[in-house]
Amino acid sequence: MRAMSLNSTIDVLPKIGEVMKKKLERVGIKTIEDLIYYFPSRYEDFSKIVPISKVKLNENNCVCGKILEIETQKTWKKKLTITEGIIQDKTGALRAVWFGQRYLTNTLKPAETICLAGKVKFDKNGLFLNNPVYEKVWSNDLTHTGRIIPIYPETRGLSSRFLRWIIKPVVERFKDELSEVIPKEILKKEKLLPLKKAITEIHFPSSFETLEKAKERFSFEQLFVLQIAVLRQRIKLYQQKAPSIPLDVKLIKELVNSLPFKLTDAQRKCTWQIVKDLERPYPMSRLLEGDVGSGKTVVAVLALLNVVKKSGLQAAFMAPTEILAKQHFKEVCKLLQPFKIKIGLLTGKQDKIVSQKMGYKTKGGFRPEVMEISKQKLLERTEKGEIDLLIGTHSLIQDKVKFFNLGLAIIDEQHRFGVKQRANLISQKSQKTIPHLLSMTATPIPRTLALTIYGDLDLSLLDELPKGRKEITTKIVSKREEAYDFVRKEVKKGRQAFVICPKIEGGSELKAVKTEYEKLKRDIFPNLKIEMLHGKMKTKEKEKIMEKFKNKKADILVSTSVVEVGVDVPNATCMIIEGAERFGLAQLHQFRGRIGRSNIQSYCFLFTDSKSQKTIQRLNAILKAKNGFELAEKDLKIRGPGSFYGVNQWGMPDLAMESLKDLKLVEKTRESAKECLKKDPLLKNNPDLKEASEKFSQKAHLE
Ligand code: ADP
Ligand code: MG
Repeated sequence: MRAMSLNSTIDVLPKIGEVMKKKLERVGIKTIEDLIYYFPSRYEDFSKIVPISKVKLNENNCVCGKILEIETQKTWKKKLTITEGIIQDKTGALRAVWFGQRYLTNTLKPAETICLAGKVKFDKNGLFLNNPVYEKVWSNDLTHTGRIIPIYPETRGLSSRFLRWIIKPVVERFKDELSEVIPKEILKKEKLLPLKKAITEIHFPSSFETLEKAKERFSFEQLFVLQIAVLRQRIKLYQQKAPSIPLDVKLIKELVNSLPFKLTDAQRKCTWQIVKDLERPYPMSRLLEGDVGSGKTVVAVLALLNVVKKSGLQAAFMAPTEILAKQHFKEVCKLLQPFKIKIGLLTGKQDKIVSQKMGYKTKGGFRPEVMEISKQKLLERTEKGEIDLLIGTHSLIQDKVKFFNLGLAIIDEQHRFGVKQRANLISQKSQKTIPHLLSMTATPIPRTLALTIYGDLDLSLLDELPKGRKEITTKIVSKREEAYDFVRKEVKKGRQAFVICPKIEGGSELKAVKTEYEKLKRDIFPNLKIEMLHGKMKTKEKEKIMEKFKNKKADILVSTSVVEVGVDVPNATCMIIEGAERFGLAQLHQFRGRIGRSNIQSYCFLFTDSKSQKTIQRLNAILKAKNGFELAEKDLKIRGPGSFYGVNQWGMPDLAMESLKDLKLVEKTRESAKECLKKDPLLKNNPDLKEASEKFSQKAHLE
């Protein structure tokens, strides 16, 4: 055996050639250390060896005895082999049956003593062990039987048996060399299992109690490292310089007074938190979280007005779709009309010169007058600082977009952007200071997740809808005709409706929406004006349709999930969602947020062909939940943390994912992390922890 260390690649181990190496790499195991940290996904209890006379039907049993005979035969289909053996102990004999494992007769020979563990079944010849795990008995130290055995997440050609076989000696040999990342005082205070013991127990538990302790320890460790990484990120951020922007109360009041509505208390509170942050000389990093329709845009506008008008810095406002960027442009122009601010709109990926709109002249009415200039000009003016506010899509993060003095970057529907894209928007290399960052999202995140995923952001909650909004009536509908009738009546009253279609199994989104559109037009609503919207359409086309719908030139809009984000058509009061079971709760809630945007009663009808109890139960949650936060908690319980945007990007181990559901643990690890960094801010005394947290930051793109 060659010299081995934790960092050695796995091919230094016996029996690992090129093929096996590739297989292991595919599940992320490159080094010996990776192998040691490849944890079982579940366990089977074969800890009690029972006398053969006492085996129980349909239960897991582990028996130990001598092989009387063993033989492999082909089945009549010729393709499959059956191996049958008989094993005997003092109390009796039992058959064991394996399918498709012909090599077994080369390994197991009559008269050998073995342990067999598996489920006991019954056929015409009596009781038998079905496909049992086997292990020859050399000593008392059993790996595959006679204990709680680990089952690893298996992929093709990588069996738990093999993994147990290579992991066991490696754990034994290297457990002393593993580095403990949890500081001693915390281990003691939280009564956590020490690493050496925990690593053995997680792979080869001596009892279910110690297994639990081991899991607890690693859950703690993983969340603790995550929290350390996140907190260090924040410390790093606070060490950087941002322009301090004094609060101009008069200015804010002026805008507030010009609004056609009264701000909610939640909007006031959040605006206050943001403008206070902006006064500090280090970068704000704040997430504004509010249900659909809670009025995030106006909060953002209040913040950016203060930046632009008070300190003469620029602001950027990025939205995930073109429709949304344009809508923001119009809305913001409208809101800021009295303040003479130069606003640019930058969208479009194509290189052709698209005429861009900027600025406006005041001239009664809602639609600001706009001036069209070329993209080139817009970019030049932005770089010279002649544009105060640049609104746009992903196009804002292109290299050629340069700001003169960006003071505040706002990202709407931030979960639609990658971590890198968000970072790109604020990395203005030409500037000495870093702009403040305000992210907004309508995807409510449960508190546990917010504390971890967005632990490096401060959180502002818009937990109140504007007054006068009626709760949307939501129903799971079994009789389509009734819902269609209802829609007809609403349209007669001058209202509009959305019909949302999911992708059909095996078909495309496009096909689904086209089929539905044809059907509705021909059979269901022949007298109504129907339009169709889907992601394959050109942007111009999409906008034309949205425009038409907004201006009431269409009664019904049949659409794919592209309407999910932010589109505002207050006159639309009905929504039919086809195949509702295909969407997540949070997503359904987002769709539903497209209606109920005025004080008229709105209705949402969920269609589903599924009869599954679980589906109905899940959909029922949306009928009862009053807000997105409740739904988010439910999604977390039913579908797990992976169903939340952002969480998957972190590449967290399964155990940590699971523990994200545990608010107490999340809070505890956060407190421990804070304490630890307070005592040792640079982690000089905890180099292993430092390394682990840096590794995590890299993997999760926190940098
Ligand atoms: P979201 O939080 O989903 O982005 P918007 O900012 O688009 O919500 O606001 C939704 C609608 O509510 C807009 O038409 C906006 O003008 C309106 N609105 C915002 N704040 C209030 C308020 N305090 N009272 C009444 N309407 C409001
Ligand atoms: Mg919005």
